[in-house]
Amino acid sequence: MKSLVLFSNDLRLNDNDAINSAVKSGCEVTFLFIYDSKLYVSTHGSANLWWLQKSIKKLKQSFKEKNLILNIVEGDFVNKALEITDKYKFYSVHINENKHPEFIKKEKCLKLKLAKRDVKFFSYNKSTLVHPSHILNKTGEPYKVYSPFYKNCKLLYSQKQVLKFPTSPFKNFIIDEKNMDTKKIFSTSDNKWSEKFDVHWEPGEKNALKTLEKFFENSISNYKEIRDLPSTEGTSKLSPYLRFGEITTNQIINYFEFHDNHTLSKHEEHFIKELYWREFSYYILYHFPYVVDKPFNKKYENFEWEKNYDENLEKWKKGETGIRIVDAAMNELWETGWMHNRTRMITASFLTKNLLIPWQEGEKWFRDTLLDADIANNVMGWQWVSGCGTDAAPYFRIFNPLLQEKKFDPENIYTKKWLKNFNLYSSGDDKDLLSDDNLIQPIVDLSSSRNIALERFSRIK
Ligand SMILES: Cc1cc2nc3c(=O)[nH]c(=O)nc-3n(C[C@H](O)[C@H](O)[C@H](O)COP(=O)(O)OP(=O)(O)OC[C@H]3O[C@@H](n4cnc5c(N)ncnc54)[C@H](O)[C@@H]3O)c2cc1C
Repeated sequence: MKSLVLFSNDLRLNDNDAINSAVKSGCEVTFLFIYDSKLYVSTHGSANLWWLQKSIKKLKQSFKEKNLILNIVEGDFVNKALEITDKYKFYSVHINENKHPEFIKKEKCLKLKLAKRDVKFFSYNKSTLVHPSHILNKTGEPYKVYSPFYKNCKLLYSQKQVLKFPTSPFKNFIIDEKNMDTKKIFSTSDNKWSEKFDVHWEPGEKNALKTLEKFFENSISNYKEIRDLPSTEGTSKLSPYLRFGEITTNQIINYFEFHDNHTLSKHEEHFIKELYWREFSYYILYHFPYVVDKPFNKKYENFEWEKNYDENLEKWKKGETGIRIVDAAMNELWETGWMHNRTRMITASFLTKNLLIPWQEGEKWFRDTLLDADIANNVMGWQWVSGCGTDAAPYFRIFNPLLQEKKFDPENIYTKKWLKNFNLYSSGDDKDLLSDDNLIQPIVDLSSSRNIALERFSRIK
């Protein structure tokens, strides 16, 4: 008998339930990635596709090192999987659930169609620590606030075992299918801006593990203190690896080696709490799927955004707002495909609460340019900052980017790094900001725009 393992955003060999269960079944196993361009282009931004292309190649190489083949073919996700299942008479199909709503639909459809053919379908959850459907509050409802959710999940620290790629020999069933040229997934000649990514990133499972090890060696012992300073390497930079399932949160949690008398340091617990923010984002997306493009808190659908904002939106994207820390952060994003969490919050707040541009526009830009762009985290991040999500920052809490810069980049290490024209900006004081002596002027007055936002928020609070 033959089993098919179908990959999507679980681009790893280890801690991969689909692989292990297919091998354990005793069948001959085939490994397959179907590139459905319509599905991938609509659910992945440009930077995502850069990562995906590299990651797929790395995965193929890892299989090759084990004398195994990963088939990478083009076609409609469901139809191609069915065509191959029929053609080679597969007994079962094994997948790790992809929690993107569009993939959920495809996987459900595949499951139904396979059932009609009497082909077994096995799906597993490792993209989150716990399946969102398993956590409900005492009244059987989904949690809507992070803290009680986390408190409940804390009990789940006793993790699942980390699976290793099977060591016992098994037969790789070879299929005769035309493999695609992965260059089709992302073309660097059409996307010159991405050329710099190679300097900053190396996708793939092996690098995910190296990144985790480096973080534990250098930063976890100070995490709570330095995670907010964008000029430091204070955070793990695991986000794109997590996004593509090159590492699981289960592997990260297990890295802590919990045992009965181990007490977590405040830094360790804080890091785990961040992983649980990711968990919570997926939880909310699962239970309230409308959040993809609508506010979690529905009354904010009526918020009065600016109408003609194209010019300011372009300036924000290009890092030409005249606000030092905002422009530095937007340059960091453009140059590296990543932005520090603190400056994600500052730039998002500036867009939604000073420029009064709908959060969906910012979410769209991040979705296209972040290597870690992740439907759940991105949407929830934007909704949190703009005040319409779960646990959202209260409407009257509007970040002052000048104070944020003073607090989190006091020596201007970050702004100097990402602004070639640092000296042309004002010194960063409120009074100095609008001085005619500055060669670069802010595109909006921070104080009056803040007041307008407060007034509009207060109308619907
Ligand atoms: C406006 C906005 C948009 C965002 N868009 C994304 C996105 O598209 N993809 C994405 O992965 N994260 C997003 N985040 C969350 C956060 O900024 C990133 O996860 C974090 O900066 C990634 O860096 P790191 O891996 O070094 O984080 P670390 O501090 O090392 O944290 C480890 C992991 O925990 C998770 N995590 C950390 N902070 C958060 C958070 N606030 N919310 C949810 N999960 C978190 C991530 O998976 C992260 O990789 C966004 C935040 C904001 C404010």
